This record gives sequence, structure tokens and C-alpha cells, in this order.
Amino acid sequence: MEKPDIDSISLRMENIWRTAGLRVMQDVVRRIKKNRKITSTADYQINRLLELGQTTEEVERTLKEALNASYPEMFRLYDEIANWQYVRNKDVYEQVNGSFIPPEENEWLKRMSEAVKRQTKDELVNLAQSYGFSVMIGNRRAFTPFSMYYHQYVDAAIMDVISGAFDYNTVIRRVVKQMTDSGLRTVDYATGKSNRVDVAVRRAVMAGVSQITEKINEQTAKELGTDYFEVDWHANARPSHREWQGKVYSKEELETVCGLHTVTGLHGANCGHDYYAFVPGASKRMYPDEWLEEQNRKEAITKEWQGKEYDAYERTQKQRQMETAMRAQREKVQLLKDSKVSEDEVMLARCKYQAQLNEYSRYCKKMKLPEQRERIYYDMRGRVAPGKKSMSRFPKEMIKSAAKDTKQYEKYKNIVGNEVGTLADFGRIKYNDPERFATLKKKVETYSDINKKDWSKEFKQNVKKAYDRFAKENIYLSTHALSRLPRLNKKGYTEVSEEYVMNILKGKPNYMEDEKKIVYFDRKLQLSIIRNKETKDVISIVRRKNPKEGWKSVR
Ligand SMILES: [Zn+2]
Repeated sequence: MEKPDIDSISLRMENIWRTAGLRVMQDVVRRIKKNRKITSTADYQINRLLELGQTTEEVERTLKEALNASYPEMFRLYDEIANWQYVRNKDVYEQVNGSFIPPEENEWLKRMSEAVKRQTKDELVNLAQSYGFSVMIGNRRAFTPFSMYYHQYVDAAIMDVISGAFDYNTVIRRVVKQMTDSGLRTVDYATGKSNRVDVAVRRAVMAGVSQITEKINEQTAKELGTDYFEVDWHANARPSHREWQGKVYSKEELETVCGLHTVTGLHGANCGHDYYAFVPGASKRMYPDEWLEEQNRKEAITKEWQGKEYDAYERTQKQRQMETAMRAQREKVQLLKDSKVSEDEVMLARCKYQAQLNEYSRYCKKMKLPEQRERIYYDMRGRVAPGKKSMSRFPKEMIKSAAKDTKQYEKYKNIVGNEVGTLADFGRIKYNDPERFATLKKKVETYSDINKKDWSKEFKQNVKKAYDRFAKENIYLSTHALSRLPRLNKKGYTEVSEEYVMNILKGKPNYMEDEKKIVYFDRKLQLSIIRNKETKDVISIVRRKNPKEGWKSVR
């Protein structure tokens, strides 16, 4: 191997690792404070800290100060973990001394630094270099200072992920919070596209990390003198990646077979695969062919959900879709709040979100998939789910079709006014009182029919009032019948009052026009009223001297 390049870790680089180390340390302290013991994750992060160049002594001192602990307390913490069978490196807790790996001997740190430097072309700025970001401030597009902050945040996130001390979701959550705290909601790319912050951050961090690991891989392969790489394997990979995962390829094949550097291929959008240097004849394959076949067979087995069959990949896809739908619903709640709609409307949207969460839990349980709620929460919108009491204000069916029902409610309210009550009242009528809802629906339909007519405002008002007077007596008039009503009393006919019409309708019909229509005919008053036999709605009301030809007497 070549002589170590001592200059390769510049002061600037050391500083970058040191700040990454600080964030790890803060997280370790937070974990230990919360649990009063060194958890598995904290243990892992402490090991990472040592690799980042901290000494065991430094780690212990920082922990002691941050936890405000006495030495006996520190001994207790350390003893506990040293006795724990899964501890990664007992020496860390047993031999607290000042020794550390000097940067020039720290192979891991050197390798990482080299890759980061190459990614940034020695400038050590803008790890997320492939993106040109700008930010809208008011109505103006600005490239600084927000876009600079954005780069700083994203770059720090990339360093945290490649240091191995934090997982993606933790890091993304933190960056999104930083962004939204500074008022940033969307990120606009130089290309003119725009994304919500959480989406943009996730994409930038993943792209930055995979570009850096690529450089690490190339370097390792060069040192090992090989041109071959092994692609790793993960469960529930998409079908096109399932074909090539877990096998060994030449550098050229990584591109021709696995589509390296393409959007749909290895290291492309949403690809969770990685690849590592492989020396044919010396390295042993991680995933033998028979094992890969067995996994493929297992993943092809389908499970049923709501009448549909899903294989392993489709199951995780469905899970991702549910998470996306819930993030969208959380955003919708925020938009509703901002647009100052009624409290009920916001609450119903929150209930819908809760129902989605419940279904998500049931789905994950049935499919035996771990829930990944952090994928829902990294939008940093905080608590959206309502309390139990609020949930019970709305019928279940209404929560399910919240958007549709809200729209219908708005329409009804627009047409018949406050009679529909609040959104929750409306839901209770619609789903718990079908008879009352049918009456309401009829009124809305007739009113909206009247609204469409080419009548004067005054005439429309009078017609609607007449509708209501009859409706009180459980008699429902069609728009046509309503329009005849004011013209009923004309010259040459005996006057007929509304009460009289109502009374006739409360009696029995004496004719039938056809199978569907019944007729109330009053020869003395020369009045004929026609009703739908099925719905009992009054279709027509006119004056006439004799029964129509074809009417059949029913008395
Ligand atoms: Zn993949």
C-alpha cells in the first residue's frame, strides 16, 4: 500500500469531523440522560466517536459533565455496559486513557476524508453539489442567504450519515426542523422544479451520501487492485433491482447490468442498494446463489389485504403509499388551519388522519411489517391526531370520506343555509338519520333546481317559501308544481287556498294516470293534483274541468 498521505486530512477536514463528533456527542448525552444508562445505540455512537478521533478520556469527561454525574455514578454506568454481552468494545469502558488513533493512522477517517474531498473537489463546501437551490422570499427568488443555510444543513446531514453515527431518518428529521424553523417550506431547484422541504432534504442527503460512498468504493477497489464489486442485497427490493442484487459485477457491468448512474438503476432514485470492492478468488460471496433463489421464492409469496394480493415488494410499496397519503393529509390539515375554515372542518381532516393511522397499524400488523412512523413525522408538523372525544363527534363513514362529505356539506349550506348546522351535525344527519337526510336532500335538490330557473329573485323566494310551508305538512312539491301554485287562482274559477290543497292531499286519490302517477281530482273546484305514486312528490297542480282521457278511476 502507498505511504499514508498525512496532508490529506487538512485542518478544515478535521474541523468538519469535529463538528460531526459534537453532534454525535450531544445525541449520546441526550440518550443516556433519558435512559439513565448506556443504551445499545449510545454504545454504538460512542464507538463511532472514537473512530472520529475522540479519546476515551474525552468521551468520559464530556459525559460526566453533561450528565452532572459523580465518579461513582460514572463507574456504575460503565460497569453496567461492560457486563452487557452485546457491548461492541469492552476496552472503551474498561481502559479509560488518553490514547487515541492519530489521524494519519486512522484508516477509517482517512478513507472518509479522501472521499469527501473528492466529492467537493478539495473545496470542502457544498457536498450536495449537484443541486442548484434557490428560495422564494416573499415574491422574490433569492440564492442567499437561505440557500447557503440549506447547503450547510444538508452538508452536515450528509457527514452525519456517512460517519455512521446517525440513521437517515434521524438526520432528515433534524434538518427539516432547522429548515422549517427558519421559515422555509419549499425548495426550488435551478431547473424550475419545486419540492416540499422534507422531500428535497431526503433526496439531497441520499444523493450526497451515495456519491460519497461511491468514491470510497472506487478508492478501496483501487487499493485492492480489483475491478470487481459485490452489490448488496436487501429485502423487498423492487423487481428490476431484485434481478441483479446480491451478485458480483465488473465495474462496467455495474453500469450495463445494474444501471449505475441512471435514475432507475443502482444508486438511482430511492435505491437502497450499495456495492463493495470484491476480489475474485480471495473474497467470499456474501449471498450465495441458492440463498438468493430461496429469497426470491419467499418474496414472491403474496398476502391478502382488502381483497387484493400483494407480494413482498408490493407490500412495502403499499406501506410507502400509506405513509405518503398521511403526510399529505397532515399538510392538508395545516392548509385548512391557515385558510381559516370552520373548526369542524379542520377537526374532521384530523380525524381522517387518525383513521389513516389506525388502518396503517392494522395493515403493518397483518403484513408483519414494522411500522415506520418516522417517515410520516419527518415533516415536523407535530401532533395532528385528535383526541378520542373529537373522533366520536363524527360518524365513522364520514371520517372515511371526509373530503367528499365536506364538499357536500359546503354545497348544502350554500343552498339551504344554516339549516344544515355544523359539519358534525350534518354528518350525524347523513349517517344516523336517513329519513331526515332524505328530506334535506330533497329540499337541496328542489332549491338548486329553482336557483337555475330564469325567474325573478322575488318569485324564487316566494316559491321556496311555499315549498317550506308544504314540507312542514310532509308534502313535497316539484319545481313545476311550485311554479303553478301562484297561477292557480285565475279568473272564472273558484278560489282555492293552500290549506285546501293540503287537505286534499291528506285524503285519498280518485284516479290513476298510469302505473306511476296518482291523481286527486276535485270536480266541483275543477282542480287536479298529480302525484308520483312511489315518492309521493307532487308533480303537477292545475285547474281542469273534466278528468283526462285515460285516467282510471280507483274509487
Ligand atoms: Zn436498489
